[in-house]
Amino acid sequence: MVEAAETVRDVAHLGRVELLTPEPAKSLWYFRDVLGMELVHEEGASAYLRGYGDYAAATLKLSAARQAGPGRISWRAVSPQALERRARAIERAGLGQGWSEGEFGRGRAYRFRDPDGHLMDIYYDEQRYRAPDHLRSTLKNLPMKYTGRGAAVRRIDHLALLAKEVAPNRRFLQQELGFGLREQVLFERGTVEIGSWLSSNLLHHQVAYVKDVHAASGRLHHFSLWVDNREDVLRAADILTENGVFIEAGPSKHNNSQGFYLYSYEPGGNRVEVYSGSYLVLAPDWEPVTWNEEERGTGVYWGGALPESFLKYGTPDVAASNVPAQSVSVFDPY
Ligand code: FE
Repeated sequence: MVEAAETVRDVAHLGRVELLTPEPAKSLWYFRDVLGMELVHEEGASAYLRGYGDYAAATLKLSAARQAGPGRISWRAVSPQALERRARAIERAGLGQGWSEGEFGRGRAYRFRDPDGHLMDIYYDEQRYRAPDHLRSTLKNLPMKYTGRGAAVRRIDHLALLAKEVAPNRRFLQQELGFGLREQVLFERGTVEIGSWLSSNLLHHQVAYVKDVHAASGRLHHFSLWVDNREDVLRAADILTENGVFIEAGPSKHNNSQGFYLYSYEPGGNRVEVYSGSYLVLAPDWEPVTWNEEERGTGVYWGGALPESFLKYGTPDVAASNVPAQSVSVFDPY
């Protein structure tokens, strides 16, 4: 009897997300003062931030750029050996770009692109956050004091990436990085892959790939930050509104992922979600849940319909160009 290949368990979690912004000062205000993240370091054109519950020194890197969009997306390996294994696998797949020296809070990393062109890397050495005295928590197991500033997001959670074609990216994460497929939206009798939700750990998803209606490549739909409960999502809606930040959608609940969502744009233009609810996936033999057009509906479990912008806008924004939106059915990427 031939045994199935052992599942790869080499990627621990989403470690750091870089967002590009043409409005760095305003974006910093949004993440630090409105969402309540902590600014820990500034270097060159970048600012490094963290949520109060993140164990790492920094989990969000904001970099000044000509236009908004995703920068480098970083995955932490479970061990130095796992890092070497994944680097070799990615190299064999032809998507490797070689090793880079560390940056603030992190050791060396192996750089690559996913098939759609999103920049990524994988690393192991991570500097744990050491809170300065005024930010030290009285809870020994909390990396930093809960300041209660703004929406007070706890940690980074996931990304939704737009891709010209979902399947090659989904397969790449499954095969080369050991991600598990959690849910899928398949239209036209299962022949058109509209979206796939994947994770390497117990979180429902750390990344979603969603078909880009503009047929562009390398774009971001949204970056998501976690709060501990749905009341905190409602509170975040009040805080965003008090600060003049436009809310695009929510608070409401998705059917897929069971996520309780709130979407706004940071001043640079990237869509950001404040998120709670959802569910953990404990089963090692999880069977992906598949939704067709009818079951999927508009992707909203209850609450108002998602606006047109939610279906079409991503960063970098390609609406100004003459790329026509594809006539794919209405879908809801999150
Ligand atoms: Fe999301």
